[in-house]
Amino acid sequence: MATNKLLLTFAICRLIVTVGLTLRPTELLRLGLDGQLSLDPTDMETASLDFGMMSRAEPLAVFHPASAEDVVRLVGAAYGSVNGFTVSAKGHGHSINGQAQTSHGVVIEMSGSVKKLAQLSPLVPMEQEEQEQRYVDVWGGELWIDVLRATLEYGLAPKSWTDYLYLSVGGTLSNAGISGQAFNHGPQISNVYELDVVTGKGDLLTCSEEQNSELFHAVLGGLGQFGIITRARIPLEPAPQRVRWIRALYSNFTAFTKDQEFLISLHGHPNSQKFDYIEGFVIVDDGLINNWRSSFFSPRNPVKITSFNANGGVLYCLEVTKNYDESSANSIDQEIEALLEKLDFIPTSVFTTDLPYVDFLDRVHKNELKLRSKGLWDVPHPWLNLFVPKSRISDFDNGVFKGILGNKTSGPILIYPMNKDKWDHRSSVVTPDEQVFYLVAFLRSALDTVIGRDESQSLEYLTNQNRQILRFCDDAGIKLKQYLPHYTTQEEWMDHFGDKWAQFYQRKMEFDPRRILATGQRIFKPSFTTKVASCARDPDRPFGLPLDLVCGIFHTQLVPVPLIWYVQALLALINFLEEKMYLKHLGTAQG
Ligand code: FAD
Repeated sequence: MATNKLLLTFAICRLIVTVGLTLRPTELLRLGLDGQLSLDPTDMETASLDFGMMSRAEPLAVFHPASAEDVVRLVGAAYGSVNGFTVSAKGHGHSINGQAQTSHGVVIEMSGSVKKLAQLSPLVPMEQEEQEQRYVDVWGGELWIDVLRATLEYGLAPKSWTDYLYLSVGGTLSNAGISGQAFNHGPQISNVYELDVVTGKGDLLTCSEEQNSELFHAVLGGLGQFGIITRARIPLEPAPQRVRWIRALYSNFTAFTKDQEFLISLHGHPNSQKFDYIEGFVIVDDGLINNWRSSFFSPRNPVKITSFNANGGVLYCLEVTKNYDESSANSIDQEIEALLEKLDFIPTSVFTTDLPYVDFLDRVHKNELKLRSKGLWDVPHPWLNLFVPKSRISDFDNGVFKGILGNKTSGPILIYPMNKDKWDHRSSVVTPDEQVFYLVAFLRSALDTVIGRDESQSLEYLTNQNRQILRFCDDAGIKLKQYLPHYTTQEEWMDHFGDKWAQFYQRKMEFDPRRILATGQRIFKPSFTTKVASCARDPDRPFGLPLDLVCGIFHTQLVPVPLIWYVQALLALINFLEEKMYLKHLGTAQG
């Protein structure tokens, strides 16, 4: 009998802890949401996975909001509920390590069908007299490809991009959003006028440089920690019609980086005297000259890398573009010529192609379709994205490209520099402490399941190699920062944010005191049964004690007392003590 009681208590405890017994998905139905709350197996499966295909977490439910107010109601319910539950906004699920997942709550599917999104938030470019005042208001879950299509109807387009456009506005603004335009316009987070954000307390706030500016800067690059972006106001420029796309090869790394750095230093010059996009990539084996990121070289006109690479070493490919339209078509050749003659690439290794602006911006999607048709898109992606300071990029080349990689890799390796002063230091994102830093991106696909692939393409091999790269940098004292960061312990996150950690933590306590948002990032532990953080800071909280603890104890005084209340009070007490220790630990670590 005693054993049975013990087992029952244990089972109830487990249920409370693992599925949040006090809040079942059916209870969410009572919130009066206009959108669709779903337990559909397909929805649940989609929300449990991401592009990385390396981590899995099934939510309690998936929510398709019909409006920002719906997001307010759901987050408000999570914040106000006695036991709480977590809420993760999911853009297009193109994270690598489960950043948009949650197993203790609800995933809000911010992206959906174009038709639905059009109803949610019609794209309304406001054409003004002043060019710099042109902008578009978009729903936070809108995909950049749809933003592009809609704005092109008005002959306009955003200025700063990602290489791939099937990413959501809210998702890239939560990281940074970078591509070859960043040297000139800054990342996407430097190209936002205004946001509507639902904070972790369920408040819908409009924020900008002038209004609620702390929230505005917190959310940009904030890894979804401070609020859910429901609207973004994006500045626009007249859309170019065509793009001249140029690639040139280098066998000398110093010459390659010198030229890249020279080209990005021209950012303040008139448009006619600089390129519009500057990237580059590393070729450690021949197969990668025409990687999945772009089909630059036609299969009918393949480029023989060996003809440029007498020593069989690593090659580097500079990739630049120049936009033009009818009015500048006559001068484009001379402008390009004037820039190219200042560069030091291998003579005869310049390749040029010409295409419509939209085709250039959407270049990766074509190859996504090809990979999908071969079953090579839905495979694990152990990507590693790093910001490497300019002063150590040559050490990185020696140690990694010419060292650790051997002559094998499993996907494109991007490398291009950016100007730090185009990044707003008030945002949450962290970059190296130098005026110029490089993005180095290992965009790997693990092909364990593909017959005939060798061991160097397995997930285990590639994951180990990522660790090796990070260890090498650590040992060599290369002070890099991860982009799209992935850490699993609080200490690692504190180290990642460095000087910015105290501010990041304060902002979290202010805007998401129960730490219910974007728990898939694994930065903060959610506070399920207590409101310690808010109590500690909010003088309006009764007794200065966690609500749940008070409720639990109160319940136990109201007899007859079901066992569940005792258990709940006990759990609340444990949680309260755990929270106290956790906050103390954070305080010590910060101090
Ligand atoms: P998700 O993966 O759905 O979410 C990412 C994080 O943001 C999660 O923590 C989530 O909770 C949070 N979030 C999502 N929506 C919101 C919202 N509305 N409000 C607040 N938080 C939110 N990045 C670049 O910078 N440049 C590139 O060129 C680039 N190319 C890529 C190409 C491919 C093929 C892939 C798979 C990724 C690429 N990325 C690139 C990385 C990409 O920007 C990030 O993975 C981004 O998070 C993906 O956006 P998403 O909409 O899929 O976000």
